[in-house]
Amino acid sequence: MHAAVLTGKQQLELQERSYPAINLDEILLKVHAIGVCGSDLRIYNHGDDRIHYPRVIGHEIAGEVVDTGDHVNRFKPGDRVTLGAHIPCGECIYCQQNMGHHCVKGHSMGYQVDGGFAEYVVLPKQFVQNGSIQKIADTTSYELASLSEPFSCVLSGLEEVDAKPGETAVVYGAGAIGCMYIAALKRMGAANVIAVQRSAARQHKAKECGADVVIDPSLTDTAERISDETNGLGADTVIVTAPSALVQRESLEIAKTTGKVLYFAGIKPVTENPINTNHIIYKQLKLVGTHGAPRQLHMEAVKWIDNGLLDFSAFITHTFPLEKTDKAFQTALAKEGLKCVVKPSQV
Ligand SMILES: [Zn+2]
Ligand SMILES: [Zn+2]
Repeated sequence: MHAAVLTGKQQLELQERSYPAINLDEILLKVHAIGVCGSDLRIYNHGDDRIHYPRVIGHEIAGEVVDTGDHVNRFKPGDRVTLGAHIPCGECIYCQQNMGHHCVKGHSMGYQVDGGFAEYVVLPKQFVQNGSIQKIADTTSYELASLSEPFSCVLSGLEEVDAKPGETAVVYGAGAIGCMYIAALKRMGAANVIAVQRSAARQHKAKECGADVVIDPSLTDTAERISDETNGLGADTVIVTAPSALVQRESLEIAKTTGKVLYFAGIKPVTENPINTNHIIYKQLKLVGTHGAPRQLHMEAVKWIDNGLLDFSAFITHTFPLEKTDKAFQTALAKEGLKCVVKPSQV
């Protein structure tokens, strides 16, 4: 089989590998669609402590079960599925509390084990037992199904920041994740969704996904404009999907008293960020962060996709065959569109 293998920083190589064998507790999946995640780009550029080369990365996987070990009863060849990213140990305090995304072991597909930028991926025992493998509707394409993992993270953020109908929400960054937030906030009844985005192409996408107002911070004073939009009060909910220290600071300024702020995107390499904590105290802000998603929100994400609760096709702007995985990464890095999806089964 072919695999796009990360052999070092910024080195993706198409390699020929032997057809994977599975043991009694594993599943072999033929990968039909695999999304390029912001974290894949970070790994590509900067490496990651949890990754040793050579490694097939990629965790936004949808595909078809082609083989199952004798101990696997829940799935059979032919099942069309999409996966969560985490490989919970099942035993630690977080796993015991259904928060496998915070498992102390911190194992994920495409990190300690090979992931989805390949024709086939082996789902290890621990993933089969404790991870999220969800069947998709016959009418759902693999391409859209591969959005289940990133969208589950969006749902987790919305839950944590407690977004409510009728609110004014600001979303910093209109990449794939930002646009998912914009569309989901509108669908959940936000009265006014304001996107803050520099690139013209993504401003257009933000509009298409339902943003009521789009601010170009290189032309407009963001804080002033948001003040105008909210009668001087500030935003109820602010979601920061852009990995920017400056924007993290600004988000606290533009939130209204008793407002809520979500930091979604981590900043790598790590930078100290001096924030004005008085905003949190005197405006009584709720400042939260989220990373990953628990299994039940991954299940919920699949329901959103199966039932077409959003136009999920709007979030995928580029698809590539496996041989062009490097091009997919370059395109995603150039921020030309939203989600880039690789389709390894496509010849
Ligand atoms: Zn992801
Ligand atoms: Zn655990």
